[in-house]
Amino acid sequence: MNNYQNRKNAGTGFVRRAYTRKKVCRFCADKNLKIDYKDSRLMRNFVSERGKIMPRRITGNCAYHQRRVSKAIKISRTVSIMPYTSVNI
Ligand SMILES: [Zn+2]
Repeated sequence: MNNYQNRKNAGTGFVRRAYTRKKVCRFCADKNLKIDYKDSRLMRNFVSERGKIMPRRITGNCAYHQRRVSKAIKISRTVSIMPYTSVNI
């Protein structure tokens, strides 16, 4: 065993990921949950404070639903439900 592996497996076996739970796509988990551009409450979950769309590694969405979400956010921006940016928070 080389030095790198020693360091990685030192301690209790938790390797740096102790606090990251396995995320599951919300839309796959709940079939009743619909992606709707008019639902700003739902869309807000996938947008940062400044109005940017969150990446998939943070939201935990699957590729299919992340695509749907980002499209829905973009639509809701054009009909001014969601902001493009919020400069003063
Ligand atoms: Zn999904």
